[in-house]
Amino acid sequence: MDVIAGADELGARCDALRAGGQAIGFVPTMGFFHDGHLSLMRAARAERDAVVVSIFVNPLQFGPKEDFGSYPRDIDRDLALGEKQGVDLVFAPDVDEMYPEGPPEVTVDPGPIADRLEGASRPGHFRGVCTVLSRLFHLVGPSRAYFGEKDAQQLAVVRKMVRDLAFPVEVAGRATAREPDGLAMSSRNTFLSPRERRAAACLYSALRDAVDAVLDGVTDATSLVRKMRERIEAEPLVSLDYVAVVDEDTFEEVDEVLRPARSLVAARVGKPRLIDNVALPVRENAGRED
Ligand code: AMP
Repeated sequence: MDVIAGADELGARCDALRAGGQAIGFVPTMGFFHDGHLSLMRAARAERDAVVVSIFVNPLQFGPKEDFGSYPRDIDRDLALGEKQGVDLVFAPDVDEMYPEGPPEVTVDPGPIADRLEGASRPGHFRGVCTVLSRLFHLVGPSRAYFGEKDAQQLAVVRKMVRDLAFPVEVAGRATAREPDGLAMSSRNTFLSPRERRAAACLYSALRDAVDAVLDGVTDATSLVRKMRERIEAEPLVSLDYVAVVDEDTFEEVDEVLRPARSLVAARVGKPRLIDNVALPVRENAGRED
């Protein structure tokens, strides 16, 4: 596994891989790996000839009051874990290498899908994500890029960006890796105290409540949201930001689950702000009047 920090070198290495007939799988990350990151690397390893991983905590996607400074970092551990997954090339630039002229003046507007939910709670977040991914996609070039469904709105924003701006990248979404009690793995989980860690499991329980309710025939989003809210509000260590039921593609809130939809939660558990989501089952005869 080679580790490089130079942007030009990343471009040259990826060009050389493709010239040698290798299909690239690209996994962009902010590091501090857990099994969610590693599962994306394993998928890339299984499906592609060469696996390229970037590790970069992108200041552009953090708000002024957010945790850019304290975001967990451990590059040595990450490199050891990446090596074990059979990663070929790690790009780990510093901020000056990524943004040599300072914070970019030209940025990518992520469009209306980014106004809602995470976009509303974290103004500028998706602009920062799209801008850094544009740079990375241009450097890496034609490839399949792997993203986790854990950040489902991000995945939808990136798919839209790639389609609307014709990036030569195929976006691949992969399932959320979870702890045994269902908590979605996240680098930020490292900041949870043991009590907070136990309390955080209510986020996934609430999402499961919504799935169970749909399976029981409830399709009305207000009832689903109420159920999820009740479960989370019963947990005093958790402070809810939002719960929502949205259309799978547009992320607009829906009144009823009649086509592919997701339930989403965002909440603060102690200091860390955590997000999670699940796909809701669509009942075969949903919406049919007979
Ligand atoms: P991050 O380092 O948090 O920016 O995440 C890098 C990539 O890993 C993104 O595509 C995330 O959606 C994905 N990811 C983060 N957590 C998980 C998880 N628990 N399961 C699957 N993918 C994840």
